[in-house]
Amino acid sequence: MSLAHGRPYLAIPGPSVIPDAVLQAMHRPAPNIYEGALPEMVGGMIPDLRYVAQTGGHVAIYITNGHGMWEAVLANTVAAGERVLVPATGRFGLGWADTAQAMGIEVDLIEHDRQSAIDPQRVRAALEADKAHKIRAVLAVHVDTSTSVRSDVAALRAVLDDLQHPALLMVDCIASLACDEFRMDDWGVDVMISASQKGLMVPPGLGFAFFNDKAAEQRRAVAQVSRYWDWTNRANPEMFYQYFNGTAPTHHLYGLRVALDMIKAEGMEAIWARHAALAGAIWTACDVWGSAGPLTLNIPDPSLRSHAVTSLRLGAPHGMRLREWADAQTGVTLGLGIGMSEPDDPNGTGFFRFGHMGHVSAHMILGLLGVVETGFAALDIPHGKGGVTAATEFLAGVCAKG
Ligand SMILES: *Cc1c(COP(=O)(O)O)cnc(C)c1O
Repeated sequence: MSLAHGRPYLAIPGPSVIPDAVLQAMHRPAPNIYEGALPEMVGGMIPDLRYVAQTGGHVAIYITNGHGMWEAVLANTVAAGERVLVPATGRFGLGWADTAQAMGIEVDLIEHDRQSAIDPQRVRAALEADKAHKIRAVLAVHVDTSTSVRSDVAALRAVLDDLQHPALLMVDCIASLACDEFRMDDWGVDVMISASQKGLMVPPGLGFAFFNDKAAEQRRAVAQVSRYWDWTNRANPEMFYQYFNGTAPTHHLYGLRVALDMIKAEGMEAIWARHAALAGAIWTACDVWGSAGPLTLNIPDPSLRSHAVTSLRLGAPHGMRLREWADAQTGVTLGLGIGMSEPDDPNGTGFFRFGHMGHVSAHMILGLLGVVETGFAALDIPHGKGGVTAATEFLAGVCAKG
């Protein structure tokens, strides 16, 4: 028997659940792109995007995904033959490094194991060795969505400042923006990138670059920048089409307008607190399940865990079995493990992930946990009893504190 009919729930770390209000805003006839409501609306979104990023800096919007944003900001700041430092904590850090290499940029890679955050001391050592200041940028992923580790961005700023190293601090917040606390200006981030389909609750297709004056100046030192990636006119358009270097992503913009309204109505602090509380409920359940079975959270230290995605090790092939079961029997789609293969599990079938980013509430997360606990029982996967109960008690405690 399948119990999957009803509203499906995509619990993967992007694309995330799209609010009905966002979908409804997108369901409309094609608008006039030359004058009227649409061009007027876009200018008004810039301050709201700055609020989400906690910055007073520049904003450039692209029609692209996260991979495109890796390339966009590198194209503006680092020329072929120049050097960047990439402290990678998982698949996404490696992906950004790979993008840089493909652009002819020299990459100094600091690899971490797949269970730890960026080590500021190793970044320090690499920057210290760079006496000639050849490194033009440090590329850091705030939350690496494969491992679900969250790194300390302000600590990287402190290292750069301490050494008086001029490299830009560039941060990928694709999995963390509007989920985990992030303060671009307070934390001294020069360039930050994000995309529409995770904490921002809009379908994939929009990318965002936030940058400060220092990064704008480094842009001017790059002799040749591809017309499409150049952020100069996008961030400071004289004509509406320059925002997007061509036709605007009309329907995505209507969706984004509503998503930003929802974000403003809730408030950044409340959004961060909601994600933290729901993540806490997930971890609580996982701790109970893991107490008498193979389940472990990939990141042992809770202070280094993302509040938007959780990577879990269940042992091959149970991760895959659980995902297939949940999808077919309950209408919940779990994330698969990526970049987590091991010698005895070359396809990473022992891993799975929960996405809990953006438009997620207590009832959704409790439903998710209930499904997983049911799956453990149905598939005879050993586990400690009472994970869901522990999660409900955790949330009751959070709510009682107000
Ligand atoms: C999802 C994600 C990306 C890639 O985004 P795409 O839209 O799939 O290209 C990059 N970095 C991080 C941290 C992500 O979570």
